[in-house]
Amino acid sequence: MTTPSTALGATAEQLSARLRGALLRPGDSDYDNARALFNGMIDRRPALIARCTGAADVISCVQVARGTGVPVSVKAGGHGVAGKALCDDGLVIDLSAMNAVTVDPDARVAHVQAGAELGDLDHEAQAFGLATPAGIHSRTGVAGLALGGGTGHLSRAFGTTADNLVAADVVTADGRLIHASEQSHPELFWALRGGGGNFGVVTRFAFRLHPLGPNVAAAQVYHPFEDAERVLRQYRDFMRSAPDEIGCGCLVLRVPPADPFPAARHGQLTVVLLATYAGDPEAGQRALQPLFEGGEPIFADLSTIPFTALQSAFDEGFPDGARYYWKAHYLRELPDDAIAAFIDKVATMPGDYSACGFETMGGAVNRVASDATAFPHRDAAFNVGIFGGWSRPDEDATGIAWARDLHAALTPYATGGVYVNYLQGDDEDATTGAYGDNFERLRRVKQTYDPEGLFDAHEGLGR
Ligand SMILES: Cc1cc2nc3c(=O)[nH]c(=O)nc-3n(C[C@H](O)[C@H](O)[C@H](O)COP(=O)(O)OP(=O)(O)OC[C@H]3O[C@@H](n4cnc5c(N)ncnc54)[C@H](O)[C@@H]3O)c2cc1C
Repeated sequence: MTTPSTALGATAEQLSARLRGALLRPGDSDYDNARALFNGMIDRRPALIARCTGAADVISCVQVARGTGVPVSVKAGGHGVAGKALCDDGLVIDLSAMNAVTVDPDARVAHVQAGAELGDLDHEAQAFGLATPAGIHSRTGVAGLALGGGTGHLSRAFGTTADNLVAADVVTADGRLIHASEQSHPELFWALRGGGGNFGVVTRFAFRLHPLGPNVAAAQVYHPFEDAERVLRQYRDFMRSAPDEIGCGCLVLRVPPADPFPAARHGQLTVVLLATYAGDPEAGQRALQPLFEGGEPIFADLSTIPFTALQSAFDEGFPDGARYYWKAHYLRELPDDAIAAFIDKVATMPGDYSACGFETMGGAVNRVASDATAFPHRDAAFNVGIFGGWSRPDEDATGIAWARDLHAALTPYATGGVYVNYLQGDDEDATTGAYGDNFERLRRVKQTYDPEGLFDAHEGLGR
């Protein structure tokens, strides 16, 4: 009988002979750094971490693990709050060293290795005045974000990140590298666009790019939390008729303890309108003007700034290694009652790094049919993110209870769907919520490409 320790021993021996990248074990100097995740609440101890240098290393990892029966997980940017990038006592296929991005400006396509972060993609694409829609934090991994959908400042103009995927190279559970696109393995290609990391290890993505930048108009208006009801209604009403170029979120967070915010406000709750315009900056400045009407903001700014600066503007608000507990809902509408329920619970938001609020869907995101890709949430107007964040373990209980309470208060207004990339891992009905009516089709793709559930560390499609 093969015991776990002999299986791990065989895995280590075979991989040592085959890998070009380092194979890390507990006790190695790089081990703790390699197993660190964005969410400091996750403390898993893999037996082996393979720092892959390319598809060949990934193929070796999959082939060897399949042969020895050792559990695997796949780590790209390590920003998934559920921490599924790491498995205890198994093999982590670490893609972080595979972060090259190559842009073909004539074809307007970016070829992106799966360990790249959003900042890597933006940096290379902006050299050609191009961009693809992605998230709002430059350290987030392209891979996890794109496989779950991916929304951000540019989504209403250009769709989700997954909508802009034109092809992907995938190492499937049988250890083959296959090319997935509309023409090649189209069902797998469908599943990769919103179905999460369930079907194999993507080693490289190709994304469609759009002309944008180098500068964009960006608005930020910080209001006192006491004015939250008026601001949230203003936001909702403004976005009802906003052009697709406008991406806008409305978030409650703590006033950062730094200039230009008045010292008397530092650490207090604030409700913030954050908006950008995916087009001509002057037209953007005009289009964003209504967000500055009403109230007495703590701080307000309307500027034309480099797109890459916008894409890293929120990095400091979510520091690596803090403790995070996230929940989410999709909403079709934002009635006054929902605003009142939201404000009631948010008033007691604990945690220095907590934030919560509304990301606007609509535009190009909602013009795609719900079954055209695996990302089903095409009828939602808002993605509500409840992003609990704090430093100390003794804050966990209060923070988690608060996030669950706010989530429950908004349930009556929600679609029942949830963004797979905001799942914490303890959510009820997460799989059906995340995939909706696409769930059964995703199960069939899973059966075809990973029938034995090698990649079952993810969102439960194989179960
Ligand atoms: C601070 C912050 C800001 C965020 N902002 C946004 C935002 O604006 N918009 C948005 O849409 N999302 C946002 N997210 C959510 C983000 O999309 C997810 O956290 C996403 O999972 C991160 O991907 P990653 O590669 O960094 O994570 P990882 O933890 O490395 O991976 C996440 C999951 O994907 C799997 N996976 C990763 N790479 C591969 C691969 N190559 N092949 C197969 N499976 C793979 C992993 O096994 C894991 O299950 C944000 C997250 C954070 C922490």
